[in-house]
Amino acid sequence: MSKRVFIEPAKRVKHLPPYLFATIDRMKEKSLSKGVDLIDMSIGDPDMPTPRHIVECMRRAVKNPAHHQYPSYAGMPSFRQAVADWYKRRFNVSLDPKTEVLSLIGSKEGIGHMPLAFINPGDYVLVPSPGYPVYPVATLFAGGKSHQMPLLAKNAYLPDLEAIPKGVLKKARLMFINYPNNPTGACADRRFFRRLVTFASDNNILICHDAAYTEMYYDGEKPLSFLQIPGAKNVGIEFHSLSKTYNMTGWRIAFAAGNKDAIAGLGKIKTNIDSGIFQAIQEAGIEALNTDDRVLKKLRDTYQKRRDLLHDGLTRLGLRADKPEATFYLWVECPKGISSMDFTVHLLNNAGILTTPGNGFGAPGEGYVRFALTVPLKRIREAVQRIRKII
Ligand SMILES: *Cc1c(COP(=O)(O)O)cnc(C)c1O
Repeated sequence: MSKRVFIEPAKRVKHLPPYLFATIDRMKEKSLSKGVDLIDMSIGDPDMPTPRHIVECMRRAVKNPAHHQYPSYAGMPSFRQAVADWYKRRFNVSLDPKTEVLSLIGSKEGIGHMPLAFINPGDYVLVPSPGYPVYPVATLFAGGKSHQMPLLAKNAYLPDLEAIPKGVLKKARLMFINYPNNPTGACADRRFFRRLVTFASDNNILICHDAAYTEMYYDGEKPLSFLQIPGAKNVGIEFHSLSKTYNMTGWRIAFAAGNKDAIAGLGKIKTNIDSGIFQAIQEAGIEALNTDDRVLKKLRDTYQKRRDLLHDGLTRLGLRADKPEATFYLWVECPKGISSMDFTVHLLNNAGILTTPGNGFGAPGEGYVRFALTVPLKRIREAVQRIRKII
């Protein structure tokens, strides 16, 4: 008999921050097992199906044997061209599909690999807080240190670049930002992006803009691409995803665009780890990028109705939240004196509504909960009625 090996997780795994949603997960399970009619507004995953023309394209593409072999690492030339055409149409930004576009197996994948490509042990990565947890975790996996940039209401949820300590700045190599923002729903204006280009250039910091929500906008102005700013391509790249825009979270397709050295560096990591996206999915991705705007307008209208209903309902109950101009999230202030976790637990146990506690996205998110607009109007109406009884 062989002796059982002692399987010990690597230090980087042991050093992972505590999983703040574990308690919530347990309580959710408990509610479900008790048969509670749960309204789950905790997940940023579209509840509507992928548009039909995209599914049909996939159905045709999957039959093509040419797609059954290994895909090209950087993405099919036709997919990268479709990305460049989309950028030109949507943002009037020109991209060289050969050197300035890279396909990704979801933007989470690209974001997660970015620090591996550019961060040495001890280097700093500047991350927004509250923010998408992948930024600090990917930094940790690469041996880097993250410095949190608080996103506060008084600064319109934009990071205060002047507040970053000089010592950190000297060792900072990379910055993640994300607008329209998850979880706050905030958008960045041109002025902020302009300052960011100068800041990055002055301090030699690679900007990684997570732009997963640029197409999920409402009545205001359309969100900007970071690459629309003069000089942006000298300092950064942008991550886009087909996940939220086209209800394709399960398909795993996204892309990075911008600075060619950054694209090449990320590509180098990826060629050594993965082998690209199933080409049939890339065909469907091309179809998605060419979606008639009327189809997308309908999706946006659906979210806008949900946003208005939830925002009006919560406001009437005395809960405060900005009305987001983009994203499908409402960043709601907890009633005075109640913590994020306590309010989340109260909503779950007494109203059967699942939300995400703001501090789960980082300490500056304390005092908020995030509602995702990923349930139908009828359920939002029901949720507001339930909250009325417990507030
Ligand atoms: C959903 C989301 C992503 C990831 O999207 P995928 O392309 O599905 O991996 C990235 N960033 C933010 C902020 C998100 O909310």
